[in-house]
Parts: sequence; C-alpha cells; structure tokens
Amino acid sequence: MARHLITSAIPYINGIKHLGNLVGSQLPADLFARYQRARGHEVMFICATDEHGTPAELAAAKAGKPVAEYCTEMHEVQAEIARGFKLSFDHFGRSSSAQNRKLTQHFAVQLAKAGLLREVTEKQMYSKADGRFLPDRYIEGTCPNCGFESARGDQCDNCTKQLDPVDLINPHSVISGSTDLELRETKHLFLRQSAMKDQLDAWIDSKTDWPILTTSIAKKWLHDGDGLQDRGITRDLSWGVPAQFEGAPWSGMEGKVFYVWFDAPIEYLAATQEWADKTGGDWERWWRTDKGADDVTYTEFMGKDNVPFHTLSFPATILGSNEPWKLVDYIKSFNYLNYDGGQFSTSRGRGVFMDQALEILPADYWRWWLLSHAPESADSEFTWENFQTSVNKDLADVLGNFVSRITKFTRSKFGEALPEGGAWGEQEDTLIDELTTRIRAYETHMEAMDIRKSAAELRAIWVAGNEYLQASAPWSAFKTDPDRAAAIARLALNLIPLYAVLSAPFIPDAADSMLGAMQTEDRSWPQDVKAALAALPAGHAFTTPEVLFRKIADEEREDWQKRFAGTRD
Ligand SMILES: [Zn+2]
Repeated sequence: MARHLITSAIPYINGIKHLGNLVGSQLPADLFARYQRARGHEVMFICATDEHGTPAELAAAKAGKPVAEYCTEMHEVQAEIARGFKLSFDHFGRSSSAQNRKLTQHFAVQLAKAGLLREVTEKQMYSKADGRFLPDRYIEGTCPNCGFESARGDQCDNCTKQLDPVDLINPHSVISGSTDLELRETKHLFLRQSAMKDQLDAWIDSKTDWPILTTSIAKKWLHDGDGLQDRGITRDLSWGVPAQFEGAPWSGMEGKVFYVWFDAPIEYLAATQEWADKTGGDWERWWRTDKGADDVTYTEFMGKDNVPFHTLSFPATILGSNEPWKLVDYIKSFNYLNYDGGQFSTSRGRGVFMDQALEILPADYWRWWLLSHAPESADSEFTWENFQTSVNKDLADVLGNFVSRITKFTRSKFGEALPEGGAWGEQEDTLIDELTTRIRAYETHMEAMDIRKSAAELRAIWVAGNEYLQASAPWSAFKTDPDRAAAIARLALNLIPLYAVLSAPFIPDAADSMLGAMQTEDRSWPQDVKAALAALPAGHAFTTPEVLFRKIADEEREDWQKRFAGTRD
C-alpha cells in the first residue's frame, strides 16, 4: 500500500469560485484522491481557504463585517459548495488557523537563522486619517492615462495600465476617502530567493517527469531578466500572521503581517495539523521525512498562475528551513478554462459559478464535463452546446442507457433478480479481453494524471457494454434460447457494479446509485475482469434505478446561455 499526500491550491476567501477555478485544482485533485483510495492506497487529501491579505479586508469592509467574522462565514459557504461537488477532502482548513500562525512564524525564524531573510526599507503611501500604510489597491484616484476616476493604485480597470499610487491624480484612501496621504519609509522582510537560485534550479532539473507547463514556468522565473528575485514577505496590514512576535529574531516589524503568499502554502502543513488535532491523527507522519514521511508521494494540483509560488517560493521556504520537511514530488498544473467565447469574470459575473451550477444540475454532470475537458495541454472552452452534447451523449445515451436497458429487460423477462442458466461464449470472451485491455489503459492514464485520456478510456469502457448488448441481443435470444438470454443478462448486470467502481472517481453519486440498484457494497477494483463479471451470482436481487442521467433540452440550454452571459448580482 502506497501513501499519497495530495493538495489542491487553496481558493481565496472573498467569494464563490467559478467552474474554471474548480477544474484548475480542486476537482482534478479529488479525482486523483478518489482513484488512489479506490486502489487501496492511503490518502491524505488537503485543501483550505486562503484567508489573509488585502482583498479579504476590502471584501469584509464592503460587507460591513469584521474581517475575521467575514472569513468564518465565507469559509462555511465554500465548504458547503465543496460538499455539494463531492470534493472528498480529508480536511478543508483555514489559513487563518492558530496552527498556521505558529508554523508560519516558525518557518520565518528558521529562514532568518539560515541567513535567508533581509530587511529592506521602502517608501509607501501612508494615510494620516486612517493611521496606517495603504496597500496599492487601497488607494484610488484619476488615471493619468485615460482619465478614469476610480483607477486603483496598482492598475486602472478602465484602460488596464499598470500604475504606481504616485501616478494617480487626486489620490485618496478607499477606507476613509482622505486625501491626506504621504510617502513614508517602511521596513519589510525579504526572502533571499536569489541566494537559493542554483539549489532550486538543480531541484527543478531533477524533475524530468513533470509537465512542461510546470517546469517551463519555473525556468522562466529562474532565468528571465536578472533571474530569480528576492521577495517581500511582509506587508503593512493588520489581518494576517503577525510578523513581530515573541521569539522573533528581528525587531521593527510591529503592526506588520506576513504576506499572504508566504503563509498560504504553509497552510497545507497546517491544515494537516488541523486534521490531526480534530481526529487524533499524526500529521507529521505526512510531512516530516524523519517521522515517517519519506515513503509519502506528494502531489500538488494548481492552475498555471500558481506555479511560480509552488515551484520556487514555497520550496525555498521548505529547503531554506534546514529541517526535514517533505518536498513536493509532482506538480500537476492546468491552463485556463474559458467561457463561451471569452473569459470567466468574477467581477462582471460572466460564466457559471459553483453555487449556480449546483442549483441547475447535479454535481456529476459538471464533474464529468469539466474533467473530460480539463485544460491540460492548452486552454479549453466551456460552451453550452458542448456541455449539452457531452451530458446527453456520454452520460445519458451511453452509460445511463446501458443501465436502463439491461435492468428493464431483465425485470420484464426474468424479474428483479439475476437470472439462472446458460453459459458464456465467444462474445463474452471478446468483451472480457477488450475490457481488460481498456481497464489497464485507464489505470495507466489515471496514475499519470492524464485526465482527458482517462475520461476517454472510461467512456470507451461504457461503450463496450452497449456494443456487447447490441451484438448479443438478449431480447432476440430470449425468443429462441432463454438460457442464453439469461447468461447475457447476468453478465450485463454484473457490468453495472464494475462500471460503478471504475467511474466513481469521476461521477461518485451515479456510482453510488448504480451500486445501490445492484444491492452491493463491494467496491473492490476489477483486477480480474472475468471474476468481476461473475461476482453477483444468479438469484442476487437488484432494483431498476430511476433515470441515472437526464438529458438537457434545447430550451434549457438557451435559457442558461442567456442567464450566465454576465452581470451576476
Ligand atoms: Zn486608465
């Protein structure tokens, strides 16, 4: 039995994520976790909400709530949606946890001891009325480029020009509206990534099996321009892990917190500790190579925008600590999912958001489409026509129809139990050979996290069942040789639990329904296809399930197309 540590990039707290976010990390990570569990391996699957930083503060202020209260509420909202999509986290943590505070401060101390932190003095806007330094996006004013009156200190949303707060005409604080701003000196801690460049470079070079998308992004950051730069890891904010604390080997960081990208990946460890504190488990067994984690395979899932942090900054933190923490073994990264001829847009409400998706159709419909169209080698695009086709053909016509045909046929001819009599012949041997080949290919693709290939192979496995029914035609056989029809029905009914077990990582609810209909709890993996197809014996009772997947009508599709075109409230 192998041990798999699996993490999904942690979603930011300020709002509900869209389907592009879901397919870029949480959903493929869930697929892999479910598959490894199904193969009998020990899995620790971790995700969390990323709660610190300026956007959380701004969102809380907009909602008129204290930021801690806002984060608690939004965490619960995201956790509920994750349950709705059947994301099988062992723990869904919070980066604002006490465990993460302690670990983040611990890593900072270790990095300081190793000489990997340096203090940098910078100039930043200070608001006298607010009594604080303002992050760039806390400052608004008129864009010097296009005249837009609500340009932010980092960028103009109207003309997209990158800005510095000092560029703005009539700059003011978005908190108080005060224009009494001045540039003041402020001191920050920087992580000396440049000092670790060669070590990181050699480590990336050793990862010859990683996706090119992952290594090419890391290499770009390592070598483009002046090479890997040091990064500020503190901010003048109050919401976050305090950078000045008892035992800190530096002074002058009062009122500052660690920057969100520094503490967010450490939450992978902290969330596992949160899990252990809740369950009595041992979290260090997953994370400390001196305490049992040296036989763990650690896989991270993320969108391409998160690759620099996970290939460089977070490994710099782990390696620089000089402690035996587990480093990632494999990074599976994704391109973007676009929406119907453009991009998903959270600010403009364009596209389908996770809560809305579950309001209109069950999770399995979305899971199947998203995974079978995962943006692996290039960006992919969600269109309603494609979604409708995929659901109606793959799920309803192929898998759903197979289950419906054979259960209804058997019920009408033999009753609701597996019929007795007859023997397998050449058609059954051919089917068993084909399924054996295809299932071994499916396993290979799933191990390799080739998600589209896995989905295509799974679909081919479903198709094989329909083709077998078509070729063996039990409805014709029944008229001349009822025993032969019984043998076909018995095998075909045994295909239902086999399909359920193979399909569960993609469509867990349908898999449960299929096993429920066949009145079996046996989830063992079909190593031996021939044995699996005889697992349920003659006389075993079953029920004819309700429609497994319903079809999407053209009117519904047109309706949804209009509804999700933009301007979500
Ligand atoms: Zn502008």
